[in-house]
Amino acid sequence: MIKKVLCMSALVSSIAVASKGEFIGSGKGYNGEIKVKVSGENNQIKEIEVIKHEESGFTRRAMKKISDEIITTQSLDVDNIAGATYTSEGLKEAVAKAIASSGIILNKVAVKNKMTSEYKDIDTDVVVVGGGGAGLAAAIAAKENGARVILLEKMPMVGGNTNYATGGINAADTSVQKKLGIEDSAELYYNDTMKGGKNLNDVSLVKKLTQESKYAIDWLISKGTDLTEVS
Ligand SMILES: Cc1cc2nc3c(=O)[nH]c(=O)nc-3n(C[C@H](O)[C@H](O)[C@H](O)COP(=O)(O)OP(=O)(O)OC[C@H]3O[C@@H](n4cnc5c(N)ncnc54)[C@H](O)[C@@H]3O)c2cc1C
Repeated sequence: MIKKVLCMSALVSSIAVASKGEFIGSGKGYNGEIKVKVSGENNQIKEIEVIKHEESGFTRRAMKKISDEIITTQSLDVDNIAGATYTSEGLKEAVAKAIASSGIILNKVAVKNKMTSEYKDIDTDVVVVGGGGAGLAAAIAAKENGARVILLEKMPMVGGNTNYATGGINAADTSVQKKLGIEDSAELYYNDTMKGGKNLNDVSLVKKLTQESKYAIDWLISKGTDLTEVS
């Protein structure tokens, strides 16, 4: 009897020892391999670091969000991020492979933090519905002008279609063009846009777009956007 107890305790301690350390695993993302380093201790995942990936744009944020949720819930039973399904799956696969021989045993079902079902009234000056480029810009501008702002986004991550826009942003007569010695004007941009729209465009909107686009560029740059490449 005594022998049996000793054996069990030896087994338990060997798991505890094995589960402390750093473990590497990889999975298949949307663009290629996702490789992670998982740090574990006391039979728990403490940290997940993506050490290699080829995912693009906002899906990188998805990896961070999924990683955080795996750590919080100590489970791989976490929802994929809409719009980044393959990335989410690839990351979870990588973590699963990393811990496969680590001794860490995750929860089969995510133990989520208790959600509160209490509602309370919040005072605000502005409510922005939708956290794409337009909503984010509106919310930031309102906040900069002293308003209290609540931004509501229905998806698990902000960004909307703006997350997928990678080609560039049209603007004329910008400070960036000036620096590069490129001659351009709001008028050229206006004519080009009207032509592109077979002259069916809303003239007042096109005027607003073409005359004020340069200010949008400066504003985006002031927020840290890299728009130095002109094509
Ligand atoms: C693949 C792709 C490539 C593109 N490339 C370019 C490009 O290179 N250059 C360019 O200028 N444009 C490009 N575009 C177009 C550009 O992305 C869009 O014109 C722009 O992002 C629209 O911004 P938005 O904020 O109006 O809408 P969105 O970015 O779509 O944001 C709307 C947000 O509102 C949220 N929402 C909707 N309903 C609700 C609700 N009831 N409650 C809470 N939230 C809600 C949505 O989830 C979303 O996050 C591209 C678009 C795509 C799809």
